[in-house]
Amino acid sequence: MSNTRNYIYYDHTTSLCIHCHKPISAKILFEDDKVFLAKTCKEHGFQKVLIADDIPYYKQIRNYNKASEYPREPHTSTEYGCPYDCGICPDHEQHSCLTLVEVTDRCNLTCPTCYTSSSPHHGTHRSLEEIEMMLDVVVKSEGEPDVVQISGGEPTIHPQFFQILNIAKSKPIKHLMLNTNGVRIAKDLAFVQKLQTYTPKFEVYLQFDSMNPQVLESLRGEDLRETRLKALQHLNQFNIPTTLVVTLQKGLNDSEIGEIIAFALQQKCVRGVTFQPTTVSGRLEHFDPAKDRMTLTEVRRKILEQCPVFKPNDLIPVPCNPDALVMGYALKYKDKVEPLTHLIDPEMLLNNSKNTIVYEQDKELHKHVLKVFSTGNSIEAIKHSFNQLLCCLPGVSAPSLKYENLFRIIIMNFMDAYDFDVRAIKKSCVHIVSKEGKIIPFETMNLFYRDEFETKLENIRKQIAQ
Ligand code: SF4
Ligand code: SF4
Repeated sequence: MSNTRNYIYYDHTTSLCIHCHKPISAKILFEDDKVFLAKTCKEHGFQKVLIADDIPYYKQIRNYNKASEYPREPHTSTEYGCPYDCGICPDHEQHSCLTLVEVTDRCNLTCPTCYTSSSPHHGTHRSLEEIEMMLDVVVKSEGEPDVVQISGGEPTIHPQFFQILNIAKSKPIKHLMLNTNGVRIAKDLAFVQKLQTYTPKFEVYLQFDSMNPQVLESLRGEDLRETRLKALQHLNQFNIPTTLVVTLQKGLNDSEIGEIIAFALQQKCVRGVTFQPTTVSGRLEHFDPAKDRMTLTEVRRKILEQCPVFKPNDLIPVPCNPDALVMGYALKYKDKVEPLTHLIDPEMLLNNSKNTIVYEQDKELHKHVLKVFSTGNSIEAIKHSFNQLLCCLPGVSAPSLKYENLFRIIIMNFMDAYDFDVRAIKKSCVHIVSKEGKIIPFETMNLFYRDEFETKLENIRKQIAQ
């Protein structure tokens, strides 16, 4: 008599050992209404990792796929296989929707959770020449990069911070973001006033994890509630477009998701909230991967539970990188929130769509829809496309909207060695330009391409070459 497995074997991929980060084959299994990655490292044994708690959504991701866009040219060759050729290699399947330029390793905080292990004394500031070279690499690769994020460490402590912004603004970059913990924004009103001169096409990406002091102590090492509120007060005062960025950890701040969205909707300057589950990289104190990791579908489920105004078809995969990104739009006006995403036929987002709805037949409009639902856009950048779209959506009668009325929720799940899937990493569209001038996916940068991983990467490459 044959034995029946207690799971369904769905697919196969290449993943990484969670300990040594060597490539290992992995099965994708459905078991107990959840999705798992099952893999065995010769040295470190069997590993089973939860990668989704929603099988229908996980399957649906595969339908949200569109033809890849590619950088103007590859920068490295294909030699060792993915993910050991980053830079971007010819095997990659997406261009840089958003590129981070890390202008310093240093930070005015020492968060227990920090993927770059930053602190006041860690590493150095990049010189203006290095930073301009990094920006030029992105421009050479993309022509007119969609979004460049000035990042770190904490970029606002760089002694030549405004010179960096001036250089970035002189490049043909469509939208500039500042990734910050908000400490300087809270303390220095004159600094915020000067920041405002970089709008439009400028946005603050503000760390905002919690309003609970214990959570902030655990994630950030100190109670930053006053700092956060002061920073927002200043950003509201100058109406500088802001996205709140929430690092999520299971059992720590995932019960605050609804509250944070409600709070964000009340802030004049806030255009959206981005949720990022903690990945296993860099400095990670107070974090047990076995119980504290959150998957993308768990975050999506919590949003739906805690913000009932959003329905499942308001939070959908982003076609340029559907495994990693969920996106939903809403209108905010007066005290109301009106989710919009469900009004768009998902078929419109698929490249090979053959549906018959009237607006789908308008090629221009189809282009607008794809633009709205791509990673490389600020809300500001999609305003025109959105207005075009709203005119045609059933049930929306007030296209006289202002940019301030749009609100966007994003879940951005960066893979680590636990949930690494070589199929999905090739679609990564959030990249970091290294100080050597290579463009590297965010996820693989934090696994293999920072200075401290040099020996590990070389050893793995040697073994592959043997
Ligand atoms: S992640 Fe992309 S760039 Fe890196 S090795 Fe794989 S295909 Fe190439
Ligand atoms: S997570 Fe951000 S704010 Fe915290 S130490 Fe790292 S760079 Fe600084």
